[in-house]
Amino acid sequence: MDAFQYRQGTLLAEGVALTEIAQRFGTPTYVYSRRAIVDAFGEFRRAAAGRDVLVCYALKANSNLAVIDLLAREGAGFDIVSGGELQRVLAAGGDPAKVVFSGVGKTEAEMRMALQAGVRCFNVESESELARLDRVAGSMGRHAPVSLRVNPDVDPGTHPYISTGLRESKFGIAHDAALAAYRTASRLPHIEVTGIDCHIGSQITSLAPFLAALDKVLELIDALHAEGIALRHIDLGGGLGIRYDEEQPPSRGALLAAVFERIDRHARGKSCAILFEFGRSIVGNAGLLLTRVECLKRNGERRFAVVDAAMNDLMRPALYEAWHPVWPVQPREADAQHSWDIVGPVCESGDWLARERRLALAEGDLLAIGSAGAYGMAMASNYNTRPRAAEVMVDGGQAYLVRERETVESLYALERRLP
Ligand SMILES: *Cc1c(COP(=O)(O)O)cnc(C)c1O
Repeated sequence: MDAFQYRQGTLLAEGVALTEIAQRFGTPTYVYSRRAIVDAFGEFRRAAAGRDVLVCYALKANSNLAVIDLLAREGAGFDIVSGGELQRVLAAGGDPAKVVFSGVGKTEAEMRMALQAGVRCFNVESESELARLDRVAGSMGRHAPVSLRVNPDVDPGTHPYISTGLRESKFGIAHDAALAAYRTASRLPHIEVTGIDCHIGSQITSLAPFLAALDKVLELIDALHAEGIALRHIDLGGGLGIRYDEEQPPSRGALLAAVFERIDRHARGKSCAILFEFGRSIVGNAGLLLTRVECLKRNGERRFAVVDAAMNDLMRPALYEAWHPVWPVQPREADAQHSWDIVGPVCESGDWLARERRLALAEGDLLAIGSAGAYGMAMASNYNTRPRAAEVMVDGGQAYLVRERETVESLYALERRLP
């Protein structure tokens, strides 16, 4: 994680001290490293060099326009899950022909918008959605390019809330129902079957689940071929994990190499284009949440550092009991260390960011909550009428404000008092 390093006792983002960012933009603030994002995406691109591969960035991990813009310039495609995300891609200069549209509940309006924009593919998750998409495309005199999201019933070995490829999941079409769904799709007049898709979960830290899912997909490709249904692409979804603590996920290059090796041994698979939909692994380690210690307190044996960021800013600890590193921006003498719970001011016991961390703290200190670039700001809310944080992108020695801190007035601007 060389985008964030200490120099002379102060933590920097690339070439900019976090103390300076706090001074200029206030806290809490999300801070991203341009170089870390470009490097992570670049690893995928290098691993895919010379092959027919499109790495789509899964926007929901972090949908700031600056992040989209940056990745569009690097040649990324995009995985979207709503019409709103499509609008963001278009607003940031992304190419709609490199967009895949995922999600279990696309509305007719979203389908129309995506057909109008000319997305590369709809990842369809049910026969009901197929029928709806066929109708919408027909009403526009178009054909919708489709891949079916199959549910390979593979356990990704991750948190249940981010496991999506198990039999009991709401996602995808069950493996044993996929053939029938493809038969239906191939008969619909305004559907053009182009591919197959799966996405089994997030924060996956071993190769085996990816390869098990791929094997199921390749099996289906053979079964479809036998019925005269030929596919042009395989979309293997996202889900590659990052290191928050002691995890040892496979490298981006190792995952792609293992996938290609298996596909190349498969007669029909090897003629397909390969798509991926990575989110977390592109932006997760490229961001941190900068926050200031407001107050220190003790309740019995426990020590609490109340900071100005909270569960509304970074929900992952409250939602998944996720572990994020906590780095003091200007570390103090180690002999003053105690075990601290880092908590926010929100009125919920679930409002904590980190627990039992050995730190030497004083009120007013700055802390950086690391590995917060994915599913951080994207999941932020206004609970407790807390304006959402500012976002800053650092590029070398420059810090750019890429999202202003919200104002309280803006939070109730759409509300009305009674007459
Ligand atoms: C969330 C999601 C992704 C991205 O997952 P990461 O774990 O962030 O890589 C990709 N595809 C689909 C369909 C998703 O829902």
